[in-house]
Amino acid sequence: MTQQSVSMAGNFRVPAPHNEPTRDFAPGSPESKAVQEEIARISSQVRDLPHYINGNWTTSEETQDVVSPHDHAKVLGRISLADEATTRSAIDAALAAHHDWSRTPWWDRAAVFLRAADLAAGKYRDELVATTMLGQSKTFHQAEIDAACETADFFRYNAHLAQQIYQDQPPALQGETNLIDQRPLEGFVLAVSPFNFTAIGANLPTTPALLGNTVVWKPSEKAALSNDVVMRLLEEAGLPPGVINMVHGSGRDVSDTAMSHEDFAGLSFTGSSEVFRSLWKTAAGNIDRYKAYPRLVGETGGKNAVLAHPTADAQAVKIALVRGAYEYQGQKCSATSRAYVARSIWNEIKDDLVETVKSLPVGDTTKHETYVGAVIDENALRRLEGVIEKAKGLDSHTLLAGGTVRPETGWFVDPTLFETTDPEAFTMSEEFFGPLLSVYVFEDEEWDSILELVDRASPYALTLAVFASDRVAISHALDVLRNTAGMTYINDKTTGALMGQVSFGGGRASGTNDKTGSRLALQRWISGRFVHENMTPAQDWRYPYLSMGEM
Ligand code: NAD
Repeated sequence: MTQQSVSMAGNFRVPAPHNEPTRDFAPGSPESKAVQEEIARISSQVRDLPHYINGNWTTSEETQDVVSPHDHAKVLGRISLADEATTRSAIDAALAAHHDWSRTPWWDRAAVFLRAADLAAGKYRDELVATTMLGQSKTFHQAEIDAACETADFFRYNAHLAQQIYQDQPPALQGETNLIDQRPLEGFVLAVSPFNFTAIGANLPTTPALLGNTVVWKPSEKAALSNDVVMRLLEEAGLPPGVINMVHGSGRDVSDTAMSHEDFAGLSFTGSSEVFRSLWKTAAGNIDRYKAYPRLVGETGGKNAVLAHPTADAQAVKIALVRGAYEYQGQKCSATSRAYVARSIWNEIKDDLVETVKSLPVGDTTKHETYVGAVIDENALRRLEGVIEKAKGLDSHTLLAGGTVRPETGWFVDPTLFETTDPEAFTMSEEFFGPLLSVYVFEDEEWDSILELVDRASPYALTLAVFASDRVAISHALDVLRNTAGMTYINDKTTGALMGQVSFGGGRASGTNDKTGSRLALQRWISGRFVHENMTPAQDWRYPYLSMGEM
């Protein structure tokens, strides 16, 4: 890019964003038929899933199959696996694009992402939904709210938030002006995204890019099919070559190369706490090489709790547990995986909850009857199998539903419910990332001590839900559990954050809490320069207080 579009005068305004409405997908509806057609089209191909570097789609010799988790014999695509030279070329492309992109007026950058939002909500919508259903085993509803709606929401709301940041300028005295030049970071940003939300894949590289940074993006190999669609729609939206460079492959290999580069400026990561910690250590080990201190942003694991007070609405607790724990196979970072339920509420809901969990239809997510699909891969299934077997062997645990895995055609783990008498058990503290919920029942009068227990039971602090009618109980919980979660829901489930309404992120082992969906998240990718101008510069070095006699 050699020409800059600076020949316009006027303050560009981003339209007020709105949440993209979700479609219902009732059986036989036009949207269901359209997505089924996309599913048939995509299923009949084995897609090449190349890297996208400096505006070119390039392949590597080494490839890895992408299969459908609920039908693992079905190969949907082949990702190219980056070697060191591939990652280096992505870094070079990002650095070469930095000069022009960082000087592109912010409204031109925003316009690219606003166009991308309309492509996600329009032309590419069904393809995003279908690839997410097939490649990540999401149902119609789960794929729609993620791949179509949240992707569009991220692009629209982030453009709006960027506008607020640029508009927010400091005051000045008469005769002076002050300006904050919100510069992108010097160097390149590495974005590493997880499998479980197509929208997170779309958001992690584009937020830094919106603010003028250039990016190397390593999508999850388990979400490559849908993330390839994201990259194609960004290209169609007019993203210049080199601004976002997508490389597939091993996270460790790509990050080792990228994070040992002197121009590594920041990490935009979402995934497990373990991987984020290892990346933080890599950055620490390389700190002497870097031109600047890198920004490290990570949204990581969770062990999200539901607490039900004796005054809770019992039916609402039951629904929150079912939806929060088992939708998308419990593979949302915000999924409910531990619950603390007052005895009187448990007596009311237990039988019904157990029957409901046993009856949840598990299967192929492209079928309308499915509520729970397959977990993402065999490793996840074997890990969950190990957890279930270990819990079954504990005297403190009673298996109430599920407890079986069925790996023959898909990686199916039946929705599993344990009741435990040990609130300190591993099932109440560790993240498993699957359709597995443990319930600890407390006596109605134990509310105060339960709050202390919930706070210390797990190292994570992502989401939390408190069900109660008693306002004193709610306020007390909010006080004691102030640092237990980055998001606390009152009488609502632990999942379902909505861009523009609930900004997402947690503390402790759950991440750096930079609140995706807020200005804070954008702020991490800029580094302000203060520019002060004096209209009447001083003409005399002396101050009035000085007594220097006649001069
Ligand atoms: P993951 O940590 O296994 O992988 C995330 C990304 O890191 C992938 O792109 C992967 O290829 C890469 N990676 C894996 N090992 C690596 C290594 N050694 N070095 C560098 N990169 C590596 O996570 P996942 O299974 O894709 O996603 C699930 C996890 O993400 C869960 O822990 C979940 O709680 C978390 N998550 C958190 C949020 C949040 O907002 N807090 C949102 C979504 C997911």
